[in-house]
Amino acid sequence: MKVFRFVAVMSSLLAAIAVSFVSASDPSPLQDFCVGTNEPSNIVFVNGKFCKDPKLATADDFFFSGLTKPGNTTNRVGSNVTTVNVNQISGLNTLGISIVRVDYAPGGQNPPHTHPRGTEGLIHFQFNIGKIKAVAFAALSSQNPGVITIANSVFGSNPPIDPHVLTKAFQLDMNVIKFLQSVF
Ligand code: MN
Repeated sequence: MKVFRFVAVMSSLLAAIAVSFVSASDPSPLQDFCVGTNEPSNIVFVNGKFCKDPKLATADDFFFSGLTKPGNTTNRVGSNVTTVNVNQISGLNTLGISIVRVDYAPGGQNPPHTHPRGTEGLIHFQFNIGKIKAVAFAALSSQNPGVITIANSVFGSNPPIDPHVLTKAFQLDMNVIKFLQSVF
């Protein structure tokens, strides 16, 4: 009887541990493919996005054209990101991967940023130190990794972050903080 009671207690304990587990990544793939659709009349099951009936999937659901085209880098940072995620290729739904093309003007940069739903979640950046244009292709570990650009988020926040907070946090003069907030 004691053995049964011990097993019952252990089962409850394991159930409690299992229930408290929280995941902040893409859902695990449960099938070979699950073409995302916004048209719920043809759906068969749900895992992340609605899934198209597999019998209706076509090659076009897994195709994107445009990564050969350079992006326009005439902007303040001198770079352009062409994103190819589940919103461009619906067949990426539940596959946990996406790709970007990044174009850089000479001296251009992809400013410090993170990807909240990708494993490259640490702050990172790229800077073209060359005298000619550059291009990079990167694969990201999420069907829709997202991006948080640090300067935009901190200085361009709406509503704005109190300049007193930023002055102390960045150890900068109030006028510098106000200037940065006006730029972003
Ligand atoms: Mn990145």
